[in-house]
Amino acid sequence: MYRGQIVIKSGEEVDQMAAAGRIQARCLQMLSGMCQPGISTLELDRAAEDFIRSEGGVPTFKGYRGFPASICASPNSMVVHGIPDETSLEEGDVLSIDAGVTYGGWVADAAITVPIGEVSEEAERLMSVTRQSLFDAIDQARPGNRLSDISHGVQRTVEEGGLSVIRTLVGHGVGREMHEDPQIPNFGEPGRGPELEEGMVFAIEPMVNVGGPGVRLDSDGWSVFSTDGSLAAHFEFTVAVTDDGPRILTPWHEDLA
Ligand code: MG
Repeated sequence: MYRGQIVIKSGEEVDQMAAAGRIQARCLQMLSGMCQPGISTLELDRAAEDFIRSEGGVPTFKGYRGFPASICASPNSMVVHGIPDETSLEEGDVLSIDAGVTYGGWVADAAITVPIGEVSEEAERLMSVTRQSLFDAIDQARPGNRLSDISHGVQRTVEEGGLSVIRTLVGHGVGREMHEDPQIPNFGEPGRGPELEEGMVFAIEPMVNVGGPGVRLDSDGWSVFSTDGSLAAHFEFTVAVTDDGPRILTPWHEDLA
């Protein structure tokens, strides 16, 4: 069923997406536990692909528009879409890890930013504000609210924290396809856009710079960096709108052991 261009999922379909989401969340938890100085993002990528396939899933990103890996691994001033490589992570880095899992024909998409060893106070604050902005945005994903209430939820928390929301990268609907309508900016006035209803499923993903909001695309055609070279963070959940409130389908913050 559609509402405008937005695909509405049944309760049963949301449960199927949650099965994909559980694999995704466990994958991110595993990867964050591996994030120590000396490990390369290529090692993380291999571990992610092995894990996802061992659970009967498929890494959604691999081959998507030609992307060569199963995760995006974006250190420091790289915001998103980093291609894993053999460079070792160092003490004090922050690393954003984004992964998609397709399972039973449904996609789950989520991301976290993790510290590598001890990090600066600035890095800690960036991660904590960006993570909080995701939870504040998700709290708006309720029937009767408007789409831009989610956007505004991100922006308010990020800007109150003295950080910058990236304007040119957006969240999105998710379901059988990784990218469905609508696009979900991380800024905007509340009370605008489509009315939310049960069965809408969104990938909500604040992307935040310590410095200005500008970003640039690297010559590799994938990696996106903050223009001013400042640290960046990215947190994302796949979330279903339900009559009982927001349901996080990729609960990397919960104990899934
Ligand atoms: Mg996404």
